[in-house]
Amino acid sequence: MAVLVYAESDNGNYKKSSFEAISYGRDLADQLSTTCIAISIGNKGSENLGQYGAHQEVNINGDLYQSFNPNVHAKAISEIANQCDCQIIVFSQTYSGKSIAPILAVKQDSAIVTGVIGLADTSGGFKVKTTAFSNKAVAHVQVNQTKKTLTIIPNSYQINSYDQTAEVLQLEVNVSENDANTKIVKTQKETGKVALTEAELVISAGRGLKGAENWNLVEDLADALGAATACSKPVSDMEWRPHSEHVGQTGITIKPNLYIAAGISGAIQHLAGVSSSKVICVINTDPEAPFFKAADYGIVGDAFDILPRLTKRINELKS
Ligand SMILES: Cc1cc2nc3c(=O)[nH]c(=O)nc-3n(C[C@H](O)[C@H](O)[C@H](O)COP(=O)(O)OP(=O)(O)OC[C@H]3O[C@@H](n4cnc5c(N)ncnc54)[C@H](O)[C@@H]3O)c2cc1C
Repeated sequence: MAVLVYAESDNGNYKKSSFEAISYGRDLADQLSTTCIAISIGNKGSENLGQYGAHQEVNINGDLYQSFNPNVHAKAISEIANQCDCQIIVFSQTYSGKSIAPILAVKQDSAIVTGVIGLADTSGGFKVKTTAFSNKAVAHVQVNQTKKTLTIIPNSYQINSYDQTAEVLQLEVNVSENDANTKIVKTQKETGKVALTEAELVISAGRGLKGAENWNLVEDLADALGAATACSKPVSDMEWRPHSEHVGQTGITIKPNLYIAAGISGAIQHLAGVSSSKVICVINTDPEAPFFKAADYGIVGDAFDILPRLTKRINELKS
């Protein structure tokens, strides 16, 4: 029995969340006195994954894997899991992880636990800590099935460092276009931007910004800080910003070191996706805005005045 971890790459670079997932998989493997195997698909990062804890690594590559297709990825991972007798499969809960893991769990007839935030307790069973009720509670989930699929919330597990090189396995899988179910006809990649789920700093804005034409204030501050941009749900619903920036209960869950929210009221559904941020700074004209209760720093003021002043000051400090 081994632990298999999906190591996701973007544009030929491993995502930071992959290193967290491998560290998690290795700690779990150590607890169970077994091996941690990392699997990457398509163009992968250049690092040897041994330095994050993988004992072995395998890459599945070819034309079929140039575009992301969850069915294809799930089939390849499932075949490797069978070949290497992996009963526990770990993903980071990214867009890709979220779409592959349930398909894989069906293929493997495995239990699936999502929203994992802590290492499993394997003393007398298998118990995992997860978020529940939109981050309002923590659940301890007892998993009784032999096969288990886990998705770990990005930024909730530390990255370990090992002085070792993972053995590279050469394995083949039998996956074809027929396994795809859907065909990707076009992909459009955003370039030059910090990925929201990977970002340590996030600048976010809501309906208080009045319109799409004012987002230069948010982008200027994000550029000055090297931060990613995010938004509240109504903002993406009104198409002021793309849906990929929508954070909250029905959007992405993020956990950056710093979350600056301008013109966002702090509704419970918004907080569900951002309340685990290490430091929260809120800018709002209304001193009674609920977001201030969740904030570490609050500025009662007009975002149209505060955001450019912050940008100017940061640029001054940088120069
Ligand atoms: C099932 C469900 C799921 C949902 N999921 C999500 C979700 O995932 N994410 C999400 O964000 N929402 C979600 N919502 C919507 C959520 O309830 C709120 O309606 C939404 O978050 C409000 O967005 P907002 O704060 O941008 O806008 P508003 O509530 O309109 O707040 C705007 C804020 O800007 C302030 N303001 C105005 N002008 C300025 C200015 N010049 N400078 C500074 N501040 C200013 C105002 O004081 C106010 O606090 C969901 C709702 C439901 C019912």
